[in-house]
Amino acid sequence: MDMTLKGKNALVGGGSRGIGKGVAMQLARMGANITLLARDAAKLSEVCHQLDDSQGQHHDFMSVDFGNVKDLRKKVHTLVLTKRIDILVNNTGGPAGGTLDDASPVEFLEAFNNHLVCNQVLSQLVMKGMKSNGYGRIINIISTSVKQPIDGLGVSNTIRGAVASWAKTLSNEVARFGITVNNVLPGYTSTERLDELMGYRATKWNMTKEEVKAKMEEEVPIKRFATPEEVGGVVAFLASPAASYVNGINMPVDGGKTKSL
Ligand code: NAD
Repeated sequence: MDMTLKGKNALVGGGSRGIGKGVAMQLARMGANITLLARDAAKLSEVCHQLDDSQGQHHDFMSVDFGNVKDLRKKVHTLVLTKRIDILVNNTGGPAGGTLDDASPVEFLEAFNNHLVCNQVLSQLVMKGMKSNGYGRIINIISTSVKQPIDGLGVSNTIRGAVASWAKTLSNEVARFGITVNNVLPGYTSTERLDELMGYRATKWNMTKEEVKAKMEEEVPIKRFATPEEVGGVVAFLASPAASYVNGINMPVDGGKTKSL
């Protein structure tokens, strides 16, 4: 089974922390050269230095804001002129929580832009090289809310469904060129975002953060949160030649929390 990524170039969104960082760590361990995307150059540089380079890989980063599509397109267009991207991991911070009753049009537009429009722009930019090389992996980090909407995440649930539909449509269009498109759906994963969410719930529910954590872990059959590297390991498999016949799927990495089959 061919799980090596040696000689492959990966572009990883939201790579300065959390799941994006976990993904980058695992792709690098399997031999890929990584280009990280996020806003904070100092944090990106720090992560870049932590990536495995024992197979002679070269890692770098690009400071971008997904809120500025024009600038994103310009910078990544310049990148792909000199570097073929074999693996694209679409990932960024999740939309803020809240019910649909309270959601404003601006929240929807921002989430649609940062999640769907950016995925589309990045995919279009990298697919030309993938097509001519006959190898491409586009992996989108979404959420289990694709299968089971999560209470209190109105805008997020809505956008996640749109991204999943976009990805399925794209997977039908480009598989013939050797490009697969798949979604990874994390459940509770120990990142700064989850920590912030637990802090918010602790205040709301009048509990300590430890009590909130225990309550949330109890919802998961495995009885603990995932590490970002556990999510990253699944992404790395999907990115590898071994996953050549996996296309157009939604793969939960949630310790069994999603109730649907
Ligand atoms: P995180 O907030 O810890 O990390 C998000 C990353 O995206 C960071 O590197 C951040 O700098 C970057 N980012 C955010 N906004 C950006 C912007 N405008 N431009 C460029 N970069 C930007 O989040 P996470 O926990 O790693 O989650 C990643 C994705 O997975 C999110 O969509 C999240 O909703 C989803 N998810 C997370 C969990 C979880 O438990 N952590 C569960 C389900 C789904």
